Order: sequence, then structure tokens, then C-alpha cells
Amino acid sequence: MSYVDEVIERVVRENPNEPEFHQAAKEVLNSLRPVVDANEEKFRKDALLERLVNPERQLKFRVPWVDDKGQVQVNTGYRVQYSSAIGPYKGGIRLHPSVNLGIIKFLGFEQIFKNSLTGLPIGGGKGGSDFDPKGKSDREVMAFCQSFMTELCKYIGADTDVPAGDIGTGAREIGYMFGQYKRIRGVYEGVLTGKGLSYGGSLARKEATGYGLLYITQEMLKSKGDSLQGKTVIVSGAGNVATYAIEKAYQLGGKPVTCSDSTGWVYDAEGIDLAALKEIKEVKRARLSEYKNYRPNAEYHEGRGVWSVKADIALPCATQNELNLDDAKALVANGVKVVAEGANMPTTQEATDYLQANGVVFLPGKAANAGGVATSALEMSQNSERLSWSFEEVDQKLQGIMANIFHNIDNAAKKYGFEGNYVVGANIAGFEKVVDAMNAQGI
Ligand code: GLU
Repeated sequence: MSYVDEVIERVVRENPNEPEFHQAAKEVLNSLRPVVDANEEKFRKDALLERLVNPERQLKFRVPWVDDKGQVQVNTGYRVQYSSAIGPYKGGIRLHPSVNLGIIKFLGFEQIFKNSLTGLPIGGGKGGSDFDPKGKSDREVMAFCQSFMTELCKYIGADTDVPAGDIGTGAREIGYMFGQYKRIRGVYEGVLTGKGLSYGGSLARKEATGYGLLYITQEMLKSKGDSLQGKTVIVSGAGNVATYAIEKAYQLGGKPVTCSDSTGWVYDAEGIDLAALKEIKEVKRARLSEYKNYRPNAEYHEGRGVWSVKADIALPCATQNELNLDDAKALVANGVKVVAEGANMPTTQEATDYLQANGVVFLPGKAANAGGVATSALEMSQNSERLSWSFEEVDQKLQGIMANIFHNIDNAAKKYGFEGNYVVGANIAGFEKVVDAMNAQGI
């Protein structure tokens, strides 16, 4: 049995009931075969892959808080400190009822390679809780965030582990968590990113994941003598990533026509009304069904269906495994030529295989959505310097980082004979730096 197969078997055996983690680990390990097979003896002797797939540390903790009726609620908190090979653990906090250890491990594992691809010195980590901020009052969200941080603050710090936002964790939640960290630890440091601008946040951090997704898509198209000009773009999601992907798609000459949330989706043939989307989601925290109040001619449908719309480019920006094999078939049938992942692992393995086999250019999330965490690293730099850079300065750095990521994954794919396969390119390019750092630091 090859070393890669041995480790895959071990991951499945030793981590039962964690399907998302298995999926992510298999996807990465399978695509590393060209590198690992060539050095199998050394890699096996060093147990390199076992060290890579096992988190350095995983925390699971109780989060009690009091709801508005005076009832005590208990949630579970997680922080997986996956790899510090190239820098302090770095990665978001997901607040969603679906959160469990397997999901946090899948996200933390992906984060190692994503963070490596940014070219910046940040290791991989992820955290979260099964708490659902939806439908909660501000006070309830604050109570939860304070309790969550009361425990987490013992394990994080500006040079050890720097959490940030993810699904369910935006500026409001980061603010409450930051306040609690400072209250208990008594230090004003850049321990979280995605902070508000008035207390150490970075300009362009909010926009960075969505903007970065479009910058890398543009760079890829440019390498083929093409551009976003006049392209119809279908987007899923209506959160931070989707909103700023839509904004940048317009700025680069594309026409985004869809978005979605957990209850339904919008098709606006004229192009999504960005101001309406921001008001519904950022100001009112309401459902997308309200979109029809702003644009009576647009379509709103319950359920899911974004991937059935005819387009040139598809940007899944909602959540994991939201784009399945049937969706992939619909995309190909409708003429979609590019899929770039704004979310983490939104495309199932079967769907990815189908898209690639049918000539669709596929940019995987760990490269395509790395603009968010890259800008978090820029926020860390600004905090260390006690400086704030201008929007233009951060945005320009972000553009450079995304262009570098594209060329890096493109070259890695070519080097190993997988030209145009950016899944293989991203995994290998991300892996090589981490392995180099692990080897340099000994056992
Ligand atoms: N949650 C984002 C991600 O998946 C951002 C993490 C960060 O900024 O640390 O990459």
C-alpha cells in the first residue's frame, strides 16, 4: 500500500463520524501523490503526513450564557490549533448550528495550505461553536461572545493564535469577543482580525475575501488572454464574501445576476442591486425574500437553484458542499467555463471531478478565497506597527498577493505535469512551504 493510501486509511479510521474532515484530507492527500510518491521512503520515515493531518492541539469547551428570558443556554466551543509550522495559528471562528469538531478540523486543515499560499507567515487554525446568532438579540449575542472568549482567551494571543470571522462571525461578534479578551487579559493587542476600524481593524478587510476572489479570477482569465468584461456571473450566498464578490465583479466589467441565503435565491436579469443587498443583509439582517420589495422585476425562489442559471462564471460563496454533481452537470450544460470557490470546499469531490473533466477551469477555495486571511495578516502587521494603512494601500497589496497565488499554483501544476489543474497546483504549492518549515524545525 502506498504511503498516501496508508495515511488516508488512518485518517478515516481514527476520526470516525467526521465526513467533511475525511473529504478535505483525502482531497489534499490524493493530489499530493506526485510529490509524496517521489520521496516516499523519507516521508514515511519522518511520519510527515501523520504529523500534517493531526492537529497540534484541539480545544473543546463549554459555553454557558443567559438568554433574554433568563434561561441558561449551553453551547460547545472549539478551537483547533492545527499547524504553527510557518507562523501563529490563524483562522476564523464559525458560529452556526452545524458546527462540530469534524467541520472545524476540515476548515483548520484547509487553512494550513491556504495560509501558506498567501506567502505570509501565518499558520493554520479554526474555531467555532454550534451557537446560532440568527434570531438572537444583540444582548444574547454579546452574552454568548463574552462567555466564548472567557474560555478561549487562555489559549490565544497576538503571537500564538489569532482568530477572525467566518460564517456567523462578523464585525459585531468580533467586537464583543475583542472587548472580553481585553477585559480579562488586560492587554490591547491584535489578538483578533476583522476588528472595527475604530479599534485597530484594517481598511479593506471586510471586502477582501470577495475582492480577492475576483482578482484571482481576473488574473487567471488574463493568463488566457481573456477578462471579466461582459461576463455573466452567478453567485451563491449573501454574506460578506458574496456581497463583495458581487461588488468587485461589477467593477471589473462583469454582470452578477444571482445570490442566495439559507431560505431562497434571487435571479435578477438586470444584475443584482448591490445597495439593496447590502441594506437587506448588512443593515436589516433580514431574509433575501425582501429583495422583491426593492426590485419587483427580479425573481425570488424558495430553496436552492442558483446553479441552474445560464452564465459564464460561477462563484460558490455560501458554504461547504453546496455545489453537487447535478449542479456541476447543469453548469456545464449552461456553458459555464469557470468555477472559483469563494467559500471553503463548496464543491463536492464528484462535482469538482466532473467540472475538470469537462474543461471547466476550477479555482479551489484555498487559493481563490485566500484574500480574506491574507488581509487579516496585513491587519496583524498594521497592529504590530501601530499604524493604519490607506484603503488603496491594502487593496493594492491584496491584488499583488492574489496575482502571486495564481502564478504560484499555476507553476506548481506545470512543474508536476498537471498544467491547468489548479487543485493539484494549490495543494502542492501550499504543502511545499509547510513541509520545508516542518523539516527545518525538527521533530
Ligand atoms: N474565515 C476566513 C477563512 O476561511 C478568514 C480567516 C482569517 O481571516 O483569519 O479564510
